Amino acid sequence: MSDDAIKDITIIGAGPTGLFAAFYAGLRGVSCRIVDALPQLGGQLMALYPEKYIFDVGGLPKILAKDLAKNMIEQGTQFGPEVVLEAEVQQLIPEDGHIRLVTRKGEFLTRTVIITAGKGALNPRVLECPGWSEHHNETGGAHTHVRQPEDFRGKRVLIVGGGDSAVDWVLGLRGIAKEVTVIHRRDEFRAHRSSVLEMRQAAEKGEVSIKTPYETRGIHGDNGCISRVTIFNNDTSEEEDLQVDAVVALLGFKPDLGPIGQWGLALERNTIKVSQLMETNISGVYAAGDVVHYPGKLELIATGYGEAAVAVNNAVHHINPKARVSPGHSTNLKQFKQDEGEE
Ligand SMILES: Cc1cc2nc3c(=O)[nH]c(=O)nc-3n(C[C@H](O)[C@H](O)[C@H](O)COP(=O)(O)OP(=O)(O)OC[C@H]3O[C@@H](n4cnc5c(N)ncnc54)[C@H](O)[C@@H]3O)c2cc1C
Repeated sequence: MSDDAIKDITIIGAGPTGLFAAFYAGLRGVSCRIVDALPQLGGQLMALYPEKYIFDVGGLPKILAKDLAKNMIEQGTQFGPEVVLEAEVQQLIPEDGHIRLVTRKGEFLTRTVIITAGKGALNPRVLECPGWSEHHNETGGAHTHVRQPEDFRGKRVLIVGGGDSAVDWVLGLRGIAKEVTVIHRRDEFRAHRSSVLEMRQAAEKGEVSIKTPYETRGIHGDNGCISRVTIFNNDTSEEEDLQVDAVVALLGFKPDLGPIGQWGLALERNTIKVSQLMETNISGVYAAGDVVHYPGKLELIATGYGEAAVAVNNAVHHINPKARVSPGHSTNLKQFKQDEGEE
């Protein structure tokens, strides 16, 4: 691996704290890489509650989580950080003069690390029924994400779940998939009220099919492809078979600090202990956002922003002790084509 590949700062976790840290790294003029286990940027905002309104971010009286994520991505990637997705960081190994990060997508060298891993890698919940694991592979037809709607064109799709993602994809695959059926173990859906209404109207028009209160009992296939799913009615205890080509389980995420717990970091109650400078006990490794603990810590987006700025400015000073910790005011910075000399 060449020296060019060594970034000044690598950020582990692309939630609001990590994205703000990426912005700040650019503001300080250092090279930056952002790595996340998920296939998209945005952390909990996109993975857990994209359709919910947030009211407590300064300057934004009311904003949908997905819109805040969009703004944060625009701000956080404006200086061109390297973005690596679907790459859970498995190991963090301090070496001579740099740190090595090991992921399934390869190894990355960096001078400093900022861990903004929230509650840990948000691993999608899967169906606990026979047949899931055999078909949950590249070609098998059992999925935990919809990457591209076109992957489902002309197919009979069963969506399992009752939250925003499930309802959004019932609507999103309508007209693309040959048939869309959703099952949920309760009669009430937890998704945004207007989306549930739209889905019920689509069902009345025969565009989609809604079956509640149902759970999956087994996924069956021929030659590695799904052909049929057995579902179970929680009220009547009766089973029935649905002829489908694909199953998409959209059941939320299991937070898990996972590999981070094995990196030799000082931890307290599943969070990383940090100093007031957001330093961990490992030299050159900082942490910020939901993943950290200190007396008085609040797990809020607003807190994560401040912590990200502290972490990045101290990481910059760690890399180059001559660099000031204080960044100055963005209103005066040349990166934004402002006059640096004036206050
Ligand atoms: C339903 C709900 C509503 C909320 N409403 C509000 C609100 O109104 N206001 C508010 O301020 N806060 C709210 N929060 C909390 C807020 O979302 C969190 O405080 C915020 O998302 C924390 O940001 P973060 O960047 O620290 O972590 P996260 O958003 O959790 O992002 C962490 C990222 O790190 C990645 N990651 C973890 N481990 C690894 C690894 N080993 N390798 C690679 N990637 C990894 C994860 O995949 C994830 O994308 C809400 C939370 C929920 C669940």
